[in-house]
Amino acid sequence: MDNSKVSQQQKQQVLDWVNSKSTLIGKCPICANRQWTVMDDFLESRPFQGGGLVVGGPTYAFVGILCRNCGNTQFMNAVYIGIMNPSPIPEGAQQDIPAANGGDNE
Ligand SMILES: [Zn+2]
Repeated sequence: MDNSKVSQQQKQQVLDWVNSKSTLIGKCPICANRQWTVMDDFLESRPFQGGGLVVGGPTYAFVGILCRNCGNTQFMNAVYIGIMNPSPIPEGAQQDIPAANGGDNE
């Protein structure tokens, strides 16, 4: 199973979760449309590391809710809404590219 894809069952879980929080799905803050769709792929965001790139570090997984009229996208935390289990930080994860430190060279 490709765990980067949001399955039909997970899409239904997202819709059920949204409907449990609101009786009427919200308007898009950009165009005021109410036509949303759940995106096919999980999305991720990484903690800010002072401008450095951390490979293999922690990420947050999101489900994208896309406005079908204007493309505005809302991110919902996949762990928080219960469609993904939190995963431990991989052993050996480290910063491969350190953040700039303002020229504090030896
Ligand atoms: Zn919109």
